[in-house]
Amino acid sequence: MVGSALYGSAAMDPIEKAEPLPEELDPTELPAAPPAEDGSGGKSTREVVLGRNVHTMCFAVKEPEDDDEVTGEREAYMASVLARYRKSLLERTKHHLGYPYNLDFDYGALNQLQHFSINNLGDPFIESNYGVHSRQFEVGVLDWFARLWELEKNEYWGYITNCGTEGNLHGILVGREVFPDGILYASKESHYSVFKAARMYRMDCEKVGTLISGEIDCADFEKKLILNKGKPAIINVNIGTTVKGAVDDLDMVIETLEKTGYKDQFYIHCDGALFGLMMPFVKRAPKVSFKKPIGSVSVSGHKFVGCPMPCGVQITRLKHINALSSNVEYLASRDATIMGSRNGHAPIFLWYTLNRKGYRGFQKEVQKCLRNAHYLKDQLRAAGIGAMLNELSSTVVFERPKDEEFVRRWQLACEGNIAHVVVMPNVTIEKLDYFLNELTQQRLIWYQDGETRPPCLAADIGDGCFCALHKQ
Ligand SMILES: *Cc1c(COP(=O)(O)O)cnc(C)c1O
Repeated sequence: MVGSALYGSAAMDPIEKAEPLPEELDPTELPAAPPAEDGSGGKSTREVVLGRNVHTMCFAVKEPEDDDEVTGEREAYMASVLARYRKSLLERTKHHLGYPYNLDFDYGALNQLQHFSINNLGDPFIESNYGVHSRQFEVGVLDWFARLWELEKNEYWGYITNCGTEGNLHGILVGREVFPDGILYASKESHYSVFKAARMYRMDCEKVGTLISGEIDCADFEKKLILNKGKPAIINVNIGTTVKGAVDDLDMVIETLEKTGYKDQFYIHCDGALFGLMMPFVKRAPKVSFKKPIGSVSVSGHKFVGCPMPCGVQITRLKHINALSSNVEYLASRDATIMGSRNGHAPIFLWYTLNRKGYRGFQKEVQKCLRNAHYLKDQLRAAGIGAMLNELSSTVVFERPKDEEFVRRWQLACEGNIAHVVVMPNVTIEKLDYFLNELTQQRLIWYQDGETRPPCLAADIGDGCFCALHKQ
């Protein structure tokens, strides 16, 4: 039974549903169990050990002994390793707040498919001789996204990627193929995969400044465009930055390009890894649409949607792909994906969730996330902790907890003096209260001597800072 945990129902309260450990297990082989939830919110030393174990422990591969099959020892050993691993997953899932992954899903119905080696080699729209594929699902999912971003069926091309990074690598590559001598522009708060693309493709890259919110600073963008006049522009526009959840103003980016005379001499890739699927459901949010002069949009499938394996979606204009592929005609096919073999399970997971939730289901979840994010921000501030929440975002930025152990325990992503919680559909008010309670208790200890003070966040979040200097 233990081995079937891969697609097992991770759910609202996984601890409740934990399968009992197999009987043949020797409990002395297990590391200390996570502490019981007694509501004290304190951290115990046992947990410190567990946290370190997760980082340093390695399950060695051991050569089978001759008599293993007879004694069953090997099976028992492997079962115990898996049970131990599963236990740590349950604990780590419960204390997860910092990464934008929706951990709440139930794909039990897809268990039956894990025995198949499903592979969508190459282009989703070109038949392959390998029959164990899931193109039917993939194209259905792509159609759904193309409709969401307003591009006609016969005008789009796309594929299910391995992750948001692959979407960025692809979008920027298409831009580079359309404008071989184009310069890449991206705000300095863009995801590192954007700058990785610039290095991989050996493109000139201009880092554009940002506003305090984390949005691209179009005044700086304009200056750089004017400086580089004569070379086309390839722009990465963030639909939700990684750290602050800031949404670049797409309309203003387009305006700036036109104002500076870049008419028809630009390609825009929208990095929607984080909010690409949330933005369409937020009132007042700028619209990502192919009715605007954009070239591609990508999104991560395992973030807001929730999926047991990383994946993503990339949509671009068919005309760009036709131009790109004419260069590789000798392949007698189209070779437009970054990867060769592609995960054939991922499209089925996405298809399953899209069918289950639909537009309306996502809308409800987005609203819940935004509501809960506001709750967290308000509670932090009420407790005298500097915090910021961008209007269109569910990423709450706040003072970096002083204790690295606390950061690890809650798996918070930190940068400089700030940390963030990304409120995803699985993050409930109870979970936030649990976290807030621990944080405020710990802060009393960290800052009890009155000499150590919380860091100033004014440079990171502006007037959301509540440090000694800025406290009203
Ligand atoms: C997470 C993220 C990515 C990368 O997505 P992966 O799926 O982790 O590869 C790219 N851009 C932004 C803004 C992100 O938040």
